[in-house]
Amino acid sequence: MRNMVIIGSGPAGLTAAIYAARANLQPLLIEGKEPGGQLTLTTLVENYPGFADGIMGPQLMEDMRKQAQRFGAEVVNGYVHAVKLTEQPFRVYYGEEEIVAKTVVISTGSSAKLIGLESEMQLMGHGVSTCATCDGFFYRGKEIAVVGGGDSAMEEATFLTKFATRVSVIHRRDVLRASKIMQARAQRNPKIHFIWNSVVEEVLGSRETGVSALQLKDIKTQQLSRLKVDGLFVAIGHNPNTEIFRGQIDLDDRGYIITRPDSTRTNISGVFACGDVQDPVFRQAITAAGSGCMAAMESERWLEH
Ligand code: NAP
Repeated sequence: MRNMVIIGSGPAGLTAAIYAARANLQPLLIEGKEPGGQLTLTTLVENYPGFADGIMGPQLMEDMRKQAQRFGAEVVNGYVHAVKLTEQPFRVYYGEEEIVAKTVVISTGSSAKLIGLESEMQLMGHGVSTCATCDGFFYRGKEIAVVGGGDSAMEEATFLTKFATRVSVIHRRDVLRASKIMQARAQRNPKIHFIWNSVVEEVLGSRETGVSALQLKDIKTQQLSRLKVDGLFVAIGHNPNTEIFRGQIDLDDRGYIITRPDSTRTNISGVFACGDVQDPVFRQAITAAGSGCMAAMESERWLEH
């Protein structure tokens, strides 16, 4: 019987592991498909406090893992494919293993939706990004494109005009999904221009030199064109990784785990959620880490009582 099992190894899960291990709970952390989470898809992280010169995303995550292990957290590589949270003790299944635990911390994060191109994956972190807050700074004085027509795309495009000389928003329809206020803000920004009814067919460039251009297709006329840009931001939404919890734990209408205000408690006593899996708003490494700390402390108190 474990005191605590943590599902997911981004900043939320690893911070929960550090705090729980230091509280002598000997937590077990199951890493998931993408050990280290979304930060392993980025390059330099410049907004995580404590690193005056920035730190590479994969390095930051490796250091967090080592820090958790140093205090006795057990970290295993595996993908949780099922859980049983309807009765105590809880059961978590990965590979062939069944783990029995008194508390469960869910930190499975969310995944940015991607267009689905091989070249997009190949150049991820080398000119292709899913996070303007993380990577916008690298595009000072450059030309970039944002794909999407929702609030995220408008927000990212507007934010990116702080750095870029020109931002092209590429949308697959000629009507935006974004709220009126966000649309208006983007549309009156002189650095933003819209390319309607178009999709990205190919991202051109190399991992060494970055992105050089996009091959676009007008889906009404089928006409192909080339757009010279230095970077591509994909802002077509995120999906919380909550499939295995569906039907057992309360989710909102977008699939995010519902936590109590100012808490990581879920509707199931003894199950806590932290990081992006319960946060559609901030989605930052530092906010995820903060909520991971909260989850560990709340689990510890729960175990005590
Ligand atoms: P979203 O509202 O689902 O919009 C996604 C956009 O991407 C849509 O315009 C969609 O096109 C497009 N898209 C989806 N799949 C695509 C694909 N494969 N290829 C090309 N385009 C694709 O997602 P979101 O913008 O991330 O927003 C999610 C939620 O967070 C919303 O409720 C939003 O209001 C909220 N949010 C709020 C704020 C804010 O208020 N500050 C900021 C960000 C997000 P179609 O329009 O054709 O479907």
